[in-house]
Amino acid sequence: MDNSCLFCRIVAGEIPATVVHRTETTLAFRDIDPKAPTHVLVIPVEHHADVVALATANPSAAADVLATAAAVAEAEGLTGDGFRVIFNTGAHGGQEVFHVHAHVVGGAPLGPMLA
Ligand code: C5P
Repeated sequence: MDNSCLFCRIVAGEIPATVVHRTETTLAFRDIDPKAPTHVLVIPVEHHADVVALATANPSAAADVLATAAAVAEAEGLTGDGFRVIFNTGAHGGQEVFHVHAHVVGGAPLGPMLA
C-alpha cells in the first residue's frame, strides 16, 4: 500500500467508494464523475502506477483486472450492446490517478472515442 495513493486508500477503506465487485486481487467501484450511464473503475489491490508497470510486474494480476472488468460488464448488463474498457496511461493518455485502473464504460452509444 502507498499511503499517498488515493486508490490504495479506497482499497484500505479509508476513502469511501461505491464498490460493485471485489475479488482477492481486484476491486471495482463506481467512478465519482461518470462519463456514461455505467462507469466503473477496476483496480488491482496491489499498487502499480499504470498498466505497463502492472503487466510487467504481475501479469497474473493484469489478467485478474480484465476478468473483473468482464464480470462487471456482465453484471451491469453491458455485454449485449457493447461497452468500452480503457486504460488511460501517462500524461498524453490523460491519466490523473497513478494507481492503474480500467474504466468500464457503457450503457449508451459512446461514439468513436471517449473524450
Ligand atoms: O484515467 P484517469 O486517471 O484520468 O481517471 C481517474 C478517474 O478516477 C476519474 O474518472 C475520476 O472521476 C475517478 N475518481 C474516482 N474517485 C475518486 C477520485 C477519482 O472515481 N475518489
